[in-house]
Amino acid sequence: MIYLDYQATTPLASEVAKAMRPWIEEKFANPHSPSRWGREADAAIEVARKQVEQAIGLSGGSLAFTGSATEALNWAIKGTIEKSNRNRVVTVRTEHAAVLDTCEWLEGRGVEVVYLPVGPDGLLDLAEVEAVVDERTALLAVMLVNNEIGVIQPVGKISAIAHRAGALMLTDAVQALGRVPIPDGPDLVAVSAHKIHGPKGIGGLWMRQGAEPMPLIHGGGQERGLRSGTLSPALCVGFGAAAKLASERRDADSEHVERLWTAAWEALGSEWILNGSPDHRYRGNLNIRREGIDTARLISELRDIAFSLGSACASGSGRPSHVLRALGLSDREARSSIRIGFGRYTTEAELVDALKRIDAAATAQENLAA
Ligand code: PLP
Repeated sequence: MIYLDYQATTPLASEVAKAMRPWIEEKFANPHSPSRWGREADAAIEVARKQVEQAIGLSGGSLAFTGSATEALNWAIKGTIEKSNRNRVVTVRTEHAAVLDTCEWLEGRGVEVVYLPVGPDGLLDLAEVEAVVDERTALLAVMLVNNEIGVIQPVGKISAIAHRAGALMLTDAVQALGRVPIPDGPDLVAVSAHKIHGPKGIGGLWMRQGAEPMPLIHGGGQERGLRSGTLSPALCVGFGAAAKLASERRDADSEHVERLWTAAWEALGSEWILNGSPDHRYRGNLNIRREGIDTARLISELRDIAFSLGSACASGSGRPSHVLRALGLSDREARSSIRIGFGRYTTEAELVDALKRIDAAATAQENLAA
């Protein structure tokens, strides 16, 4: 199989598997118990916490581990509203469901939510952000690198707008961590291990000191009383090892992705159109469309290539993507889009091979229809 779905998840790095193994096979102690083994597990978790914090690269705050980035985003949004005497959340139409569905849930409980539009390139108009973020706004939530189209929002400048209005800034940095620097500014940053060659089932919320949301999960008081529940040393150590590796390999990974991007466009025919900004984007995400093609058929014809339908949302409902619709694409254009995601372990030869086959299958469809 040729794996080209890096935005959905990434292969576990062998270094990460190796770091996790003793914590799965032998070292089973509860990291919150005072025994020597417990303290050893706790110390390993603290090393991992530092490694993830270093990969995030911001100062003046700390990370709490969560079960996923979805949990971190739920916590950040609900817990900030709970704590604030303001009642408005401002976010963007192209956010991940973990943000949009949480906001919708809050709307049902009387919170006002403003969903900002984006331009045809997927980017926000800062004047529009400025116009809606005011003294009623508790939180501004803007994703750094979009998971569907890869565009990068200017989160540093957007944070300044939030702060001028006395609001907190949350960024979903799940697709950015280890790939694109996280600019200084956000008060809350959500991350996930499995997008950076770490294990599934662990994420984190970085919180600027003083900006900690009210807890979402109550119980044993772990994570400074902010997020209860016994931590998994194996998952924490795996996240830490993945973050360390991402920091060490950032330049090499990014040069590799640039080479792959160039090779991809050479392999594709000229009929393909890029969705989203060509300049302000992470280049390991190639979301492209070709007029009139049946993308579901393309996927079923090329079963040994793992790529994603640009048009279907994560649940596989077949509904056109809310992100592509927000760019102003018609239903038909959205449905003729695919997402190719590549990175550290993708070879140029396999990418070129896969794209030539995708291109040939699309051409065959057109010839049949003609
Ligand atoms: N935010 C973005 C941008 C994502 O791509 C994902 C993963 O699909 C999430 C949030 C949710 O992350 P997790 O799988 O850790 O819940």
